[in-house]
Amino acid sequence: MSFDVDLFVIGAGSGGVRAARFAAGFGARVAVAESRYLGGTCVNVGCVPKKFLVYGAHFSEDFDVASSFGWTAGKPQFDWAALISNKNREIHRLNEVYRSLLQGSGVALHEGHARLVDAHTVEINGERISAANILVATGSWPQVPEIPGKEHAITSNEAFFLKQLPRRVLVVGGGYIAVEFASIFHGLGAETSLLYRGDLFLRGFDQGVRLHLKQEFEKKGLGLQFNADIARIDKQPDGSLKVTLKDQRVLAADCVFYATGRRPMLDNLGLENVDVALDEKGFIKVDSEYRSSEPSILALGDVIGKVQLTPVALAEGMAVARRLFRPEEYRPVDYKLIPTAVFSLPNIATVGLTEQEARSAGHKIKLFEARFRPMKLSLGDYHEKTMMKLVVDADSDKVLGCHMVGPDAGEIIQGIAVALRAGATKRVFDDTIGIHPTSAEEFVTLRTPLSETQ
Ligand code: FAD
Ligand code: NDP
Repeated sequence: MSFDVDLFVIGAGSGGVRAARFAAGFGARVAVAESRYLGGTCVNVGCVPKKFLVYGAHFSEDFDVASSFGWTAGKPQFDWAALISNKNREIHRLNEVYRSLLQGSGVALHEGHARLVDAHTVEINGERISAANILVATGSWPQVPEIPGKEHAITSNEAFFLKQLPRRVLVVGGGYIAVEFASIFHGLGAETSLLYRGDLFLRGFDQGVRLHLKQEFEKKGLGLQFNADIARIDKQPDGSLKVTLKDQRVLAADCVFYATGRRPMLDNLGLENVDVALDEKGFIKVDSEYRSSEPSILALGDVIGKVQLTPVALAEGMAVARRLFRPEEYRPVDYKLIPTAVFSLPNIATVGLTEQEARSAGHKIKLFEARFRPMKLSLGDYHEKTMMKLVVDADSDKVLGCHMVGPDAGEIIQGIAVALRAGATKRVFDDTIGIHPTSAEEFVTLRTPLSETQ
């Protein structure tokens, strides 16, 4: 049977664009559909604009620290509208970069909402296109719990386009987005509190890291309310929000920002026309090579609910393109040792096992830890501490996990991730010469274990 294209990709986000470009580069006839924005979540309402806001938020501290180096400047003023407009201009430029990347690699771009008509046909803008393979790379969407007044809350999607910086913000959730945006709003000058339903945010991260970040947030005066959840939100005549918690306490805010996880984006996708099975949380179920239960339909990225990170979606996109059109070069994605950063202020970054994971996997472990004031803060009266931690297997000496809270943690852990992937032992870390004076050199000068325990 002949098809119009070899691969039709639904969604021009991180994973979809990567799969489409690589497939076209391998000589396949490829089309991609995008309904909203080229580059997907990461470029438009995710990693990229988020990092601009994080940079912006850090300046409030930078201005202050500059005075300890002898600088005097006028009273800093922050203009939210200027930041958002500059951010929008840069994102628009990136959208066009994505357009030329796709077109330059010979991918046919269809701008509009795509729907599955059957296992080999997609409908877009009234046109039906047949495809040997269809890749669903439609990403995810913020999920807000059903509470009275949820329509008064915003999510990360809206936060990037607020007309002004709210005066009082309540951030709900305890994951990446909640912690990052609490830092952003606080750093930019909003009175900010983070409400999390559990005992301590960032479930799944190393316990020491979670506690360290909590202490740093408290030092900065960022409000933390654990074991707290919202029962209802009521808009007041003056436009402010009355927020009633489940424990009956009442808080006042100008903005309630929900970051309580993301659902798969499957809206109006035509799934009823095909035999694509979903898992218990509603994500598309795939096998180890990203095939759904409908043999011609594949899926990757956030919509499969595995690891919701851009570099993972990119790796999956590359794997799909290779498996379909360059099988001799196919390598499965290795989900172990994925480094990750939370761009809170201060940043967190981590790779490998947490202390708790290493213990429950039965390792006898040695822990090495350093806490110190970053050198840049030592000329003034600052109390921020950087934390670094190594989890080492006591029997093999292999470094199982590496964790950091502090400036540029992501930049530092990216390099360490290469060492862990290469199987580095603590001895290799010890034999590595440091770069002085840096924070990163602490990772190669940690000599005394905190403890040696099962
Ligand atoms: P997406 O990038 O979301 O792309 C899906 C695309 O499909 C979208 O463009 C959508 O419009 C389109 N689409 C959906 N349905 C249809 C349809 N029916 N027809 C046509 N098009 C359709 N990850 C990191 O690694 N680092 C970070 O710092 C980071 N920060 C983040 C911050 C925020 C606020 C958020 C929300 C996410 C962040 N992420 C980060 C996660 C990252 O953005 C996602 O994991 C990544 O974008 C997933 O890529 P994807 O290809 O699966 O989906
Ligand atoms: P996460 O899954 O990371 O966190 C969701 C948080 O919301 C958890 O703390 C969860 O609590 C809480 N929660 C879930 N449901 C409810 C509810 N009904 N009521 C109250 N609280 C609730 O999701 P995010 O939205 O923060 O981010 C989505 C994903 O995007 C991340 O997991 C990450 O993969 C990616 N991302 C990556 C970034 C990066 O790389 N820097 C930055 C931003 C996003 P509990 O722990 O108790 O379940």
